[in-house]
Amino acid sequence: MFMYEMPTRLYFGKKCMEEAKDVWSQIGKKALIVTGRHSAKVNGSQEAVTSSLEQCGVSWILFDEVENNPSIDTVRRAAALGKTEQVDFVVGIGGGSPMDAAKVIALLCTNELDDRTLFTGPYEKPLPIVTVATTAGTGSEVTKVAVLTNPHVGTKQSVNTPLIFPTVSFCDPSFTYSVNPTVTVDTAVDALSHAIEGYLSKKSTPISDVWAEEAMRFVGIHLENLDGHLSKEAREDLMYGSTLAGMTIAQTGTTLVHSMGYELTYYKGYSHGRANGMLLPGYMKLISETMPDKVEKIWDILNLSGLDDFSALLRYTMPDRIVLSEEEIQHYVSIVMPTGGKASTSYEVTEDVVARLYRKLAE
Ligand code: FE
Repeated sequence: MFMYEMPTRLYFGKKCMEEAKDVWSQIGKKALIVTGRHSAKVNGSQEAVTSSLEQCGVSWILFDEVENNPSIDTVRRAAALGKTEQVDFVVGIGGGSPMDAAKVIALLCTNELDDRTLFTGPYEKPLPIVTVATTAGTGSEVTKVAVLTNPHVGTKQSVNTPLIFPTVSFCDPSFTYSVNPTVTVDTAVDALSHAIEGYLSKKSTPISDVWAEEAMRFVGIHLENLDGHLSKEAREDLMYGSTLAGMTIAQTGTTLVHSMGYELTYYKGYSHGRANGMLLPGYMKLISETMPDKVEKIWDILNLSGLDDFSALLRYTMPDRIVLSEEEIQHYVSIVMPTGGKASTSYEVTEDVVARLYRKLAE
């Protein structure tokens, strides 16, 4: 048996919000818009949302203080604003951080949750969530997961419930045209990691595999040129691929790469996509032992000859090396071992396996 759940209504394409703006007034009368400090103002997405809301007679207030890897404090402040202002729904505009923040803010507007139950539930229905993606990577626009920084456990941690699938998502590739080369590379590799991890997860299903393969195809054809000039068509491919990769992990979750990458972001400051990209070659080596057919299929889809080719490509894209002390490694291992990502990895992951993968980052 397998289950497939994807309740988000997705609008995809240039000017999709303009074409589908009637949807706003079906959701509510007053919106809390959640963004980071700058990019939503630069890439035109914030202006597109506010003018679209106004044309539909929907009022709005703005919370534009979401940082990268948002903290519990930030989402609590925004939720307090939403409650005081009695908003009907929450709109997250941005990359993963504002979209994830919006999901949790919507949850906090209708639930009393302390710093522990925030991650465990039980939850009552949140306010409706609308997301507007402005990078091609996170997939958050079609998932039921929001990742926050949790200082109590010393890592990034997920809020995971079908209740936070966005009600509506707008994916307009034109909002990604101005994304800088570093973020373009990091987010595309995150999307690739979602597709690959979902495809190789113990929780993969026949339907999630269809999305994963297609996601790899659309992201894969641009992997060698990510840091150069990307055409508008390439940006569209990347956004389409990343949304399909999001639909994959909405079914499967992520695996060991994400579980291990969170520590590199939390303690070492590496961006999320970069952390995943550096871990991917070591992970693929493991899984090529347990799922050789699927791994071969990945090389085939990505037009690569094999693991060496893949490792060389990622090393070229992400030349960083990370040297960790044994103490750091043992600490990170203790955080990774209880995670769901480790549990859904199709390999018997021991403490020693995780430690070896972290050590490999120095090579
Ligand atoms: Fe990710």
